Amino acid sequence: MTVRLRFAPSPTGNLHLGTLRAALFNWLYAQKKKGVFLCRIEDTDLQRSEARFEDSIFEGLAWLGLTCDESPMVGGDFGPYRQSERRGIYQTYIDQLIESGYAYYCFATPEDLEAEREEAKKAKKPYVYSGKYRDYFLDEAKQRVQAGEKAVLRFKMPQSGTVTVHDLIRGEVTFDYALIGDFILQKSDGTPAFNFAVVVDDALMNITHVIRGEDHLSNMPRQLAVFEALGFEPPQFAHLPMILGADKSKLSKRHGATNVIEYKEQGFLPEAMLNYLALLGWTPFGGHEKLPLQDLIQAFDIDQVNSSGAVFDVKKLSWLNGQYIRDLSATDFQHRVVPFIATTVMNKLKDLYNDLQLQQIMGLAQASITFLTEMEDFLQVFIEEDRAYQQRLNALGFKPEEQAFLSLFTQKVTGLDAAFSAQDMKVILEEIVAETGLGKGKVFRPIRIAMTGFQSGPDLMQVLALLGKGCLLRRLGMLIG
Ligand code: GLU
Repeated sequence: MTVRLRFAPSPTGNLHLGTLRAALFNWLYAQKKKGVFLCRIEDTDLQRSEARFEDSIFEGLAWLGLTCDESPMVGGDFGPYRQSERRGIYQTYIDQLIESGYAYYCFATPEDLEAEREEAKKAKKPYVYSGKYRDYFLDEAKQRVQAGEKAVLRFKMPQSGTVTVHDLIRGEVTFDYALIGDFILQKSDGTPAFNFAVVVDDALMNITHVIRGEDHLSNMPRQLAVFEALGFEPPQFAHLPMILGADKSKLSKRHGATNVIEYKEQGFLPEAMLNYLALLGWTPFGGHEKLPLQDLIQAFDIDQVNSSGAVFDVKKLSWLNGQYIRDLSATDFQHRVVPFIATTVMNKLKDLYNDLQLQQIMGLAQASITFLTEMEDFLQVFIEEDRAYQQRLNALGFKPEEQAFLSLFTQKVTGLDAAFSAQDMKVILEEIVAETGLGKGKVFRPIRIAMTGFQSGPDLMQVLALLGKGCLLRRLGMLIG
């Protein structure tokens, strides 16, 4: 049997990390089992659903390369894939539930419900709808509705006893029916409610596995009851642990960006994000932290996912990002950083350096940056702007007169060929260390500061060789007159 998994986001906000992780786990499992991954847009809440949020969902999926076999964009045999376009389908099943006695019209007004809620509050009991219209005559109810009265449709749930559901991650979970109550299937304006539409869609789309956030676990008894009432076979369920911030509270804006696209803009690579998200809640056999996509697919299994909350650690994500940056081919790296470099900066670099030198600069960048957005700062050293260089130097409080070896350095640089290499520079620096008897750090660091205006950076000899004899002598002239 082909496994069929679905990602069912509601387009009521920007795509956030938890939602993208749910998509990824469904996608990974579908890939592993050579099954189908589809995307269904759950836009029944027409007031809160917006096209721009749907765009943000597809932008996030595309960024990570999570391709859909079926979706509103690519179509498929089980469409439409937007709930707002499935109203007729839902009505058929609503009618079926009314006729079979599982659904009933409820005329309780907002005031009635508020009074019930107040009563529960006073009695310090959790609120559960009373089931007031549960046994109301259907013919009479239909007449009232036909006469224009507003009513919602509710599902008749068992009122006592317990139900035990099976979750692939959590095992058996038991719920008390007395705490659930008759829930809404369809609102008075004809809009299907979430717990109903999701069941009809999962059944008609032949979904075999539902992987989603833990916040949906409590919906299972309701959804399973609807599956049963409609005579559908339910899929298997897996509820993923919540993503938590470092303080162990639910991940929110307070902990940094939650909108996936902000990570793209901040210069994270999709490979790193994908690897990191896959390990949020799942520890692969062997405990590896860096697992490229094909290995992730091979290693992934739903029942290995942990049930306790997964802490989002941006430091680990950043570390992985650096690792994936180093793994890129030189050409791929250059291709990825281009959008992060302003045209003016690029033009300046091309004016100052030949192709080979540009490649060396890119190589240095690839070996040292953590985010693609660091490129602009990184390149500053190589863009010969004496004014900015001097400002940086002044801000660091650098005092040339305290570095007696600078004149020795000047002499040695003067003696170099115009096209000197990083190796030639290494020889010079080591000579200075030997001749002055100063430690390496006492020579290398001040020279880096003096020549670049930065306290740290990539390999010093290579940087100095790239800056070139002319630039070094001019800056030395500015420092020691
Ligand atoms: N549309 C729901 C949400 O965005 C997900 C429903 C489901 O996965 O069953 O939270």
